[in-house]
Amino acid sequence: TELNSSNNTSLLKIPTIKYNKLFINGDFVDSISGTTFETIDPRAGEVIARISEGAKEDIDIAVKAAREAFDSGPWPRMSGVERAKIMMKFAELVDENTEELAALDAIDAGKLYYIAKVIEIPSAANTLRYYAGAADKIHGEVLKSSGQFHAYTLMEPIGVVGHIIPWNAPSSLFFTKVSPALAAGCTMVLKPAEQTPLSALFYAHLAKLAGIPNGVLNVVPGFGPTAGAAISSHMDIDVVSFTGSVEVGREIMQAAAKSNLKHVSLELGGKSPLIIFDDADVDKAAELALFGLLTNKGEVCVASSRVFVQEGIYDQVEKKLVEKAKAWIVGDPFDPKTQQGPQADRNQFEKIISYIEHGKKEGATLLTGGKAVGSHGYYIEPTIFSDVKEDMLIAKDEIFGPVMALMKFKTIEEAIKSANNTRYGLAAGIVTKNLDIANTVSRSIRAGVIWINSYLALGSDIPFGGYKMSGFGRDLGLEALHKYLQVKSVVTPI
Ligand code: NAD
Repeated sequence: TELNSSNNTSLLKIPTIKYNKLFINGDFVDSISGTTFETIDPRAGEVIARISEGAKEDIDIAVKAAREAFDSGPWPRMSGVERAKIMMKFAELVDENTEELAALDAIDAGKLYYIAKVIEIPSAANTLRYYAGAADKIHGEVLKSSGQFHAYTLMEPIGVVGHIIPWNAPSSLFFTKVSPALAAGCTMVLKPAEQTPLSALFYAHLAKLAGIPNGVLNVVPGFGPTAGAAISSHMDIDVVSFTGSVEVGREIMQAAAKSNLKHVSLELGGKSPLIIFDDADVDKAAELALFGLLTNKGEVCVASSRVFVQEGIYDQVEKKLVEKAKAWIVGDPFDPKTQQGPQADRNQFEKIISYIEHGKKEGATLLTGGKAVGSHGYYIEPTIFSDVKEDMLIAKDEIFGPVMALMKFKTIEEAIKSANNTRYGLAAGIVTKNLDIANTVSRSIRAGVIWINSYLALGSDIPFGGYKMSGFGRDLGLEALHKYLQVKSVVTPI
């Protein structure tokens, strides 16, 4: 595969980095230690900027600011309508800056610039609008009185929130976390991933411009074991909302248990199945399978990394998949023709390559791909393995890259059993024209999102989260508001 870099000048298209410090209590400040870390451009492996490195003492200061803003600041005391107005203004400012924000995500995370600009960032702004619309509809209920007593519930903001997010979707995950917490009236500290701090700091600046009061939204870049661990073990954070790996999710739960028993919500990994039945349109099914896997170069927690095809059309689907994967355009994320940019960083690149080598050693057949593309940066060919056995590592582990494990099945029962044969349960896809099959499989798969004849269709109003080791708690939808709220029952004599 050739690296698509027809527009070579784009390698120079690095926006000026305006925000590279911690955002605490409404100001950009240096870290206490004065230490900084590099953030790298995955297109060429070069340093983009140095960012202030938050550590425990910085998290402490940010939490103190958030606590003060919660205990005595205006945000939790405003009416929902007032909060909504400011959130709407924030969303408008995001819309006005989509080009610069998309460029930041392209150079920091290797995101396709045009997709970020036209889809991801506008959708993130709409998530903010969705929760702005919910801010004045949060209410408790009046309960039936029991003879001498009358009772009602109050829905109160839970307090100070700690958000910890990964690097694969810096903009959408920022707003997935922050928006419902803002609507609920909480204050918060967010730690972006060390690989991708740039857009989060820009959003902090926009939040201030929009009128979000000081201390309500603090953004502290830093590393997991230091800044991240300081959040999960903090005694004054009421809930930690995490998106990332199972391993870190486990550490966060332990830290929460050992500190103040803060609430925990975990959105973890996946190894999602896409099941294609005999009655499917071969071309469309292959297209969907590649879209499900290769969107954001496979660095998507719901990537359709296990594809099960019924035996009647298996050979045809396999042929189509290979044909389309070979024609897939890998290259510069700023080029509008590019379909797949570079993996987010060197670690991720090396991890994916080592899984590919493992797949070959395990005896799977490499149908296409398997290699790096180009001589610089972290590009990998769309890779498809067939003859995959369910106990192979490439069928079990989340690779988080453009690597598909293709498998054949005979019956619907077999498909369900294989699809569920994973420790994960984040998402699944079904391709069939048969409503009975679609319904049966939807109900039988243990996963939080099921896509029928579609994949990766997400929406601010669609709850998103995992079964099994993909975590618990839901992001998005009205469901997500509840993790930032407490229910208080008030009882009074009649
Ligand atoms: P990761 O778990 O290593 O890191 C995620 C975040 O946790 C980063 O901000 C990191 O700094 C922080 N962190 C690391 N160690 C920590 C610690 N000890 N304490 C507190 N915080 C710590 O994940 P990753 O490899 O960067 O991201 C990929 C993972 O994220 C994949 O497993 C993917 O499936 C998952 N993911 C899930 C969803 C979802 O919604 N379910 C969405 C996107 C990504």
